[in-house]
Amino acid sequence: MLLGAHVPTAGGLDQAPARGRDITADAIQVFTRNQVQWRARPLAPEEVRAFRVALAESGVRQVLSHGSYLVNLASGEASLLDKSRKASLEEMERCHALGIPSLVFHPGSHRGAGEASGLRTVAASLNHVLERALHLDVLLLLEVTAGQGSSVGHRFEHLVSILERVKHPERLGVCLDTCHLLAAGYDIATPQGYEATLSAFTRLVGLDKLKAVARDAGPPPRLEAGAHAAPRPGGPRAGQGLRWIPPPWPCVPRAWPGKRASTWSGSPVPTRPRS
Ligand SMILES: [Zn+2]
Repeated sequence: MLLGAHVPTAGGLDQAPARGRDITADAIQVFTRNQVQWRARPLAPEEVRAFRVALAESGVRQVLSHGSYLVNLASGEASLLDKSRKASLEEMERCHALGIPSLVFHPGSHRGAGEASGLRTVAASLNHVLERALHLDVLLLLEVTAGQGSSVGHRFEHLVSILERVKHPERLGVCLDTCHLLAAGYDIATPQGYEATLSAFTRLVGLDKLKAVARDAGPPPRLEAGAHAAPRPGGPRAGQGLRWIPPPWPCVPRAWPGKRASTWSGSPVPTRPRS
């Protein structure tokens, strides 16, 4: 099991690995670009080199990238969908260049077109992107969403629906975000609820697809009241590379108080075998 945190890239991407090392992280998550702007400055060869050197020197063993928040691979609007697909491919190219083997992304929002339509569009988007990314050693990690607005991906059945339609499912994994799971109605704050959630995930999606767990720094506000009333922690699945994570959601990267942060407790994310 590797534990880590989302670390800032202020001052350059090459600053991130040392920030991970400073908090003794095994794994770090970074944004490889400004996540709230469409335009991303291309990576300069020296930036790539500096990041790879810094990573090797840091002792950090695994890196994930989190995709842009603007991307909506479920959009029914042609221009946004086109932009989203291009941006996703660009992000995969950036990850590949930097040697980052996994890219976490949110499936998207159907914006009124309906869940079934949104899920079909996400799968079509992934087929579009992956067809153009055959040469890239990057695994895409579908992140479970909180179910806010018209977002898809907040039920394990949604993930299955996407995975079943994708021509290269081996290029996809899943990232479970504990905060999103709770908000989506999966009761992982109790050992019984955790067990039920994990067994549903195992039955529907398959534990082999679980590549990362993002443990958020805090529960959504409406869950706060119950968070402290949770029973004692237990570790029923520790042997399977997972454990029940007790509320009240301690935050690993104390170096950045107030920042949203995550930790992972999942199996190491494998790189795609070279063919
Ligand atoms: Zn996310």
